[in-house]
Amino acid sequence: MKVFQILIVEDNPDQRELLNVAFRRYRKAKFEPDFAGSGAECLKKCEQREYDAIILDYKLPDRSGLEVMAQLKDRGVDAPVLIVTGQGDEKVAVEAMKNGAADYVVKEHNYLRSFPQVVESIIERHRLHQRLREQEEFIQNIVEKANDFIFSLDAELRFQFVNPQVRRLGFSPEEIQGLPLQELLASSISEEDLRALTEDPDGRNFVFDFRSKDGQVHNMIVSFRRISEKGNQPHAILGIAKDVTEILKLHRLIQESKKKLQTVFDSITDYIMVLDRDKTIQMANRKVATLMNTTPDRVIGRKCYEAYMAGRVCENCAAERTWQTKRQELVEISHGGRVYQIRTFPMFNLEGEMEFVIEYARDVTEQKNIERKLIQSEKLATIGLLASGVAHELRNPLNIIETARYYIEDLLRGKDEDIQAKLNIIKRNVQRASNIINNLLEFSRHSTKDREKIDVNVIIDKTLSLIEKDLQSQNIQVEKHYSDIPPVYLGLDSLKQVFLNIIINAVQAMPEGGTLSIRTGVKGDEWIEVKFTDTGHGIPREHLKDIFTPFFTTKELGKGTGLGMYVSHSIIRREGGEILVESEVGKGTTFTVLLPRDGEHGN
Ligand code: ADP
Ligand code: MG
Repeated sequence: MKVFQILIVEDNPDQRELLNVAFRRYRKAKFEPDFAGSGAECLKKCEQREYDAIILDYKLPDRSGLEVMAQLKDRGVDAPVLIVTGQGDEKVAVEAMKNGAADYVVKEHNYLRSFPQVVESIIERHRLHQRLREQEEFIQNIVEKANDFIFSLDAELRFQFVNPQVRRLGFSPEEIQGLPLQELLASSISEEDLRALTEDPDGRNFVFDFRSKDGQVHNMIVSFRRISEKGNQPHAILGIAKDVTEILKLHRLIQESKKKLQTVFDSITDYIMVLDRDKTIQMANRKVATLMNTTPDRVIGRKCYEAYMAGRVCENCAAERTWQTKRQELVEISHGGRVYQIRTFPMFNLEGEMEFVIEYARDVTEQKNIERKLIQSEKLATIGLLASGVAHELRNPLNIIETARYYIEDLLRGKDEDIQAKLNIIKRNVQRASNIINNLLEFSRHSTKDREKIDVNVIIDKTLSLIEKDLQSQNIQVEKHYSDIPPVYLGLDSLKQVFLNIIINAVQAMPEGGTLSIRTGVKGDEWIEVKFTDTGHGIPREHLKDIFTPFFTTKELGKGTGLGMYVSHSIIRREGGEILVESEVGKGTTFTVLLPRDGEHGN
């Protein structure tokens, strides 16, 4: 049981004794009275210890009870004070109550009987008050110290209570009280929000843009709750607002850098994507999207093999291998006539666990073609070497045959027509064989000595004049589109042979006549360009890759040697140029000869 410590201030010893007995007897020593004989003694005792209550006789030898009470208050003594007055001093009692006394007791004849009970209830009441005050302070503290802006609104959405956090917006709580919520906002509340706010704000979050006194906008998330008030007043609304301006800024920054990253991604002309464990695309660049005929955002969530493999998982999946090895992997796949080189890299998270695979793919079709061409031209060079050796060796036996034939012809002198006919066949074929040999030898002549300054336009004209008759008889129009071009420095005979080969092929491709147009010009700083376009039968796609191969011909026996383009190609290559061909069956063919502009000799 809690024992109440009380101080009784009474100068009369008899009174003290009576009071002592009365309090000590009350509820088995509920009270432990202490005594002071004067105001001074009372103040001194109160300084030394705390009492649960102080009972002050109104009349004290040194000063009045009222005075003592004021002095106790000054010293911060919190205990409730009870004033004891004599009969007829009720006026004083009223005065005491006004000055903060907890209660008063009049010394009637049997006042001692109920006195302890009065004191007990005063102490209890005081305690209750104290607790309430503490609680209030506690809540007040929370509201005032809270980081959030806390306020209440009345039914008209006017500010009632406002916590000091409103100062962050540059206002004092007093300035805000009574203002409508709208006055603090940068934009007007939407119809929808307004309805939600007035009808059912409970537990909802609103994003409001508050405007501070200096005009700055603060983005705040506000959660509202209806709170009931005393009596039949309408409900008030409690709002707790959190300033999320910085968070939103950060969010925007992240969005922006994400966008930037995507832009960087998109500007890469190879295929890049980020894949999860089951090859689902998490991120992809524009190039990937175009491959799938869509936009980058639509690609997310689809599978990588939809991009290259039309939905079939690659046999030798590089991503799968990277998941296993946790290392970079490389595969090459062919799809839709294209060759892709796919490189995969592991992507680890902060914990060091592998989380994604980055897939980087490149269309290497052109590169592959160039490689193939290189292999081809190497083959050609070897064959050329062999061929020229053979040609050289054949020259002598051919000479011998021709000499022998001539000898026989001379002996016969036209006596036997039959034999003469056979001799003519031998002559024709020796001639043909010599042509082949000469072609081959021309090709293998790697000389650079006999170069001269050549006006390409003039050389074309000269070459054309060689076969003027054929052009006429075959009804072929020649259209010339010559440009003023600088001279080239090349072997004259070689170049004539190339042009002749190309023109003869064109003529042969137009047995029913047609147009051969010849265009000259410069291409960039490096090249002289000569284009021969015919309106002939064209070259089937499957033959295009073969026309530069030695002995490839589609012409009937005796008409073609299959060496013209091979030799021409080799000559032009040797001179540092290039021959390109484009053709469409039934429409015609264009051969483009690129010759190097030799800067050293130019003037
Ligand atoms: P040839 O003319 O002796 O057949 P080439 O090396 O000059 O040998 O040409 C190889 C082949 O290329 C020809 O047989 C022909 O099929 C094709 N060709 C070359 N030029 C043309 C052209 N202008 N039009 C159509 N086909 C052509
Ligand atoms: Mg030919």
